[in-house]
Amino acid sequence: MRSVSVLGATGSIGESAFDLLMRAGGPEAYRTVALTGAANVGRLAEMARALRAEIAVTALPEKLGALREALAGSGIETAAGPEAVAEAAARPADWTLSAIIGAAGLPPGLEVLRRGGTLALANKESLVAAGRLVMGESQRNGAVILPVDSEHSAIFQSLHGENLDSVEHVTITASGGAFRDWPLERLARATVAEASSHPNWAMGQRITIDSASMFNKALEVIEAHEFFGLSCDQIKVLVHPQSIVHAMVSHRDGGSIAHLGAPDMRHAIGYALHWPQRAALPVPALDLAALGSLTFTAPDEARWPALRLARQVIRAGGAAGAVLNAAKEQALDDFIAGRIGFMDMAPAVERALDACAREPGFASSPGDLATVLEWDAQARRLAACTSGAA
Ligand code: NDP
Ligand code: MG
Repeated sequence: MRSVSVLGATGSIGESAFDLLMRAGGPEAYRTVALTGAANVGRLAEMARALRAEIAVTALPEKLGALREALAGSGIETAAGPEAVAEAAARPADWTLSAIIGAAGLPPGLEVLRRGGTLALANKESLVAAGRLVMGESQRNGAVILPVDSEHSAIFQSLHGENLDSVEHVTITASGGAFRDWPLERLARATVAEASSHPNWAMGQRITIDSASMFNKALEVIEAHEFFGLSCDQIKVLVHPQSIVHAMVSHRDGGSIAHLGAPDMRHAIGYALHWPQRAALPVPALDLAALGSLTFTAPDEARWPALRLARQVIRAGGAAGAVLNAAKEQALDDFIAGRIGFMDMAPAVERALDACAREPGFASSPGDLATVLEWDAQARRLAACTSGAA
């Protein structure tokens, strides 16, 4: 029986993975080693019981009592704290999904790679913050990384059987998020509630706001650079409001291979779960006649400065990815808390990038986790709003 672990089980991606595992037969089909979560220990305990997990871990030490209580009598081990999440990730499992949100996903993801495991990677932040380190650990230990971000899964699938040298460029699509059609002058007053609703995808709140600001696409451009080794100029973005074409690979011979599908993350998660096979998945079939038309436009960088910052980060290399990722997380925290406006996020990130670029060592890619975390902490300090309410 295959063994699996899900890091970030209680989130949006984690719930989709849980759905797939349960539909496939749950504990009769898979041996679940570890499930991890953070605040939502009630749901974590339900999932752990349903899958008969060996261990359930919350990242929050203050939640350990509640988790223990919820799992009393189940025989399921419990633990708490970031180190316990990393230790759970280090336990052997045939397939581990990294679906933690933010840079917190990096240390446990590295543990999976160090044990030579198969890492289904939704946590794009680890590649953005530490691409060189993550890919290096993977190669050194014979680990396998399977992209779960829908665009990167789409590229991965489109590249199957192809030679990367023949690729002219790839295109990833963006829905344009909540504010695609808003007049520019209205964006500065956009509220957290308005930014938290996505036209096509049901996702966690943070990535939904990142979709509205296009920081999600900025992270994905960097993710494509780190994972596939493509140059900045080889990664193009198109706004595609229907979210049906997820990515397209264009070859030097003039042919392009696109990946299409309904906007449902269970496709990309399920593809990674069953790879290298394909299995039937509970994903709506594509009905192009019902859709009628698919449209594409070039993104407007005045509306979405995040895309310009992504290219700046790829060209700078070194610690720029770690700085952009952390500064973005800080700016997002500040926006959600009402300390800054929607259009203040990109300038906060740019401020941190500019200041860090003057620091010694910025041009070198961080070679270990401690160095990534130092840049991360510095970037958060520099990006943080210090002037009270917006
Ligand atoms: P959610 O916010 O819905 O879930 C995040 C998960 O991480 C939850 O299980 C949460 O626990 C846990 N968590 C939160 N903080 C910490 C922490 N400090 N340490 C350990 N665990 C923590 O996020 P999503 O599911 O939307 O996204 C997860 C990842 O997948 C992100 O990297 C995102 O970019 C990526 N992704 C998401 C897509 C989507 O459709 N949602 C699409 C493509 C990529 P709890 O809820 O119990 O507090
Ligand atoms: Mg994506």
